[in-house]
Amino acid sequence: MSDLQARKLLIVEGKTDKQRLQLVLQEPVDFICTNGTLSYNELESLIGLLQDRDDVYILVDADVSGMRLRSQLRQELPNAKHLYTRRMYREVATTPVDVLAWVLSQAHFLVKEHLLLPHKSIGQGVQRSTDKRRVED
Ligand code: MG
Repeated sequence: MSDLQARKLLIVEGKTDKQRLQLVLQEPVDFICTNGTLSYNELESLIGLLQDRDDVYILVDADVSGMRLRSQLRQELPNAKHLYTRRMYREVATTPVDVLAWVLSQAHFLVKEHLLLPHKSIGQGVQRSTDKRRVED
């Protein structure tokens, strides 16, 4: 098995989402950016590429186009695992990095340990943390 196949694969909408998630991840992950909802041909080629993998994850925005993309992928890639940002943040790219760290760690991704620390003491209070405070810490 090649190194590439051993990695998890994350489907996101855009390059800024990928960059944001890379700030959080502590393991190499392959990304596919859909750049919005998929055409029939794009969907077909994605299925061909991914249908036999069981390590495919989907993390898209909590908005109309994100939900549309999610339902396309749910039908065609039923084994893919769905991850969610919180509706209050709407976009992956505007979700605080420590919230993303929590979401990814719940799905057993390795994430940067220091981003998880606040949640151990404040439990569900993840919305208290902001990127700004992270930088200042
Ligand atoms: Mg969006």
